[in-house]
Amino acid sequence: MSKNAKPGAETVASTSNFIRSHIDADLSAGKYAARSWGGKPGPARVHAGAPLDAAKIRTRFPPEPNGYLHLGHAKSICLNFGLALHYAGACHLRFDDTNPEKEEQEYVDSIRDAVQWLGFDWGPNGYFASDYFDYMYEAAEYLISAGHAYVDEQSAEEMRANRGTLTEPGKPGPWRDRPAAESLARFREMREGKHADGAMVLRAKIDIASPNINLRDPVIYRIRKATHHRTGDAWCIYPLYTFAHPIEDALEQITHSICTLEFEDQRPFYDWLLGKLADGGLLARPLPQQIEFARLNLTYVALSKRKLIQLVDEKHVSGWDDPRLPTLAGARRRGYTPEGFRLFADRIGVSKADSWIEYSVLEDCMRDHLNEIAERRIAVLDPVKLVIDNYPEGQQEDCFAPNHPQNPDLGKRVVPLSRELWIEREDFAEQAPKGFFRLFPGNSVRLRYGYVVKCTGCEKDAAGNVTVVHCEYLPETKSGTPGAETVKVKGNIHWLSAAHSQASEVRLYDRLFKEAHPGAGGRDFLLDLNPDSVKTITAQLEPSLAAAGPGTRFQFERHGYFVVDTGDSAPGKPVFNRAVTLRDSWVK
Ligand code: ATP
Ligand code: MG
Repeated sequence: MSKNAKPGAETVASTSNFIRSHIDADLSAGKYAARSWGGKPGPARVHAGAPLDAAKIRTRFPPEPNGYLHLGHAKSICLNFGLALHYAGACHLRFDDTNPEKEEQEYVDSIRDAVQWLGFDWGPNGYFASDYFDYMYEAAEYLISAGHAYVDEQSAEEMRANRGTLTEPGKPGPWRDRPAAESLARFREMREGKHADGAMVLRAKIDIASPNINLRDPVIYRIRKATHHRTGDAWCIYPLYTFAHPIEDALEQITHSICTLEFEDQRPFYDWLLGKLADGGLLARPLPQQIEFARLNLTYVALSKRKLIQLVDEKHVSGWDDPRLPTLAGARRRGYTPEGFRLFADRIGVSKADSWIEYSVLEDCMRDHLNEIAERRIAVLDPVKLVIDNYPEGQQEDCFAPNHPQNPDLGKRVVPLSRELWIEREDFAEQAPKGFFRLFPGNSVRLRYGYVVKCTGCEKDAAGNVTVVHCEYLPETKSGTPGAETVKVKGNIHWLSAAHSQASEVRLYDRLFKEAHPGAGGRDFLLDLNPDSVKTITAQLEPSLAAAGPGTRFQFERHGYFVVDTGDSAPGKPVFNRAVTLRDSWVK
């Protein structure tokens, strides 16, 4: 999509890509037409979920509930749900909860919340991998009986040694050719809790010498005496992800199982497993197919869950929704928008080649959308007094500022003017550098939406800091009156009436990392944290902002986009977070 496309327009998967071409080809070949959606009796319907309605294609977003979703997941969510929308199909939200130890309800809730916030709806298709544990167990028994799996009692070290390396083939271990009945008996004992964690595993029997190491009899079940967040203590053996995932897809009649590139070498196992189960009558054809795409890598960001958990646990950030964190909860609190994310997903597209996306691309998407939706307000972030010496004391008048310059329908609001104002400290210079068109003694500027004023001087404290700037106004030059054009000035600054403005906490967020590739070259990524990733200030805000509700986004003129913090604001006392500056300040 062109960079100029209107961000408000629907942007989900509006661009063609290799995945869409693949799906188009499948649809025109009628690949999934034969499928009797949900109507077929048998194992394809063993799951406890809602019946599947007719849908041309089915995709899924399968997070493991062991952390909060991050910006990379947003790419995957927009892709999978976007494809379902485009093809009038369905996208499932499936929690891949096959690992009992690290999973928690808090994560399940936060993931649902984030997907909905991004603007997507899984309807009746919300599932858990743990719903299929019975089926997976039966599938494992079938594989054993059919000679496609065996219980291996080698130690972990022996197994590793016999598995070979990338350059050497593996060697069969002593249990590989044991009779199926013996493996089955052992597997049942595993299930009954008769063996300790790690004592033995169930392995698929494929090809121990395969050049693809993933086919060298991969482990499919292990003993883990742990309490699961949903099934409690019902199981003490758990399927491995590589075994569970294809089965989950097949049971939900997913057509296109889209995953990141590191699973490419797993695809032969995916196809092997589903093929064997279909041959055995445990699954109906056509089977789902795996398609890989390049994951999102963003400069200045760490996206691995392990690193995010470390940042939260070690309190380098204030929590999962810290506005500096690349979680969706953090981005939301930062003031980023779902539309901005969908625009981003569309702009970066999907490809087969790994690459890095500049963080500024994401920021540009947020700017583009925020520019469209955010009303304008005035804030003075680093205030210094400006006194209009020829303006009568006690007098005040209304100036009118448009709420959105490109959208006159949003109207104007009153900004009161009086004798004493707040202006930005940087808008005054006692000695003006070359090219400085703002306030300096003898120079005139326009007070935006007000009058032209001429600077007459300043007061300073003992340390030499400017405490008050003085000026005089030209009464005939008020904006919006016929006299406004009579005096031409080069500078135009924002201001607030000191008697009317309100002091408020504002947090100026910047990037969490100062290096484009945090932790590159094996360096501890914590060393790359940006020490200036947040600066908390007391700013002066225009009076109308006192009533702004949590989550409301504004453009503070000349500064950037800000949102009312959802965590720390109180009625009448909003706290603001900076989402993004008006321009990229990181360009070298
Ligand atoms: P980890 O950070 O430990 O690698 P994960 O991010 O892969 O974990 P999952 O819960 O397994 O965590 O991810 C859910 C889905 O999101 C998967 O389908 C995965 O491919 C996709 N996904 C994860 N990270 C990215 C990324 N950076 N870009 C695109 N998709 C991603
Ligand atoms: Mg993963």
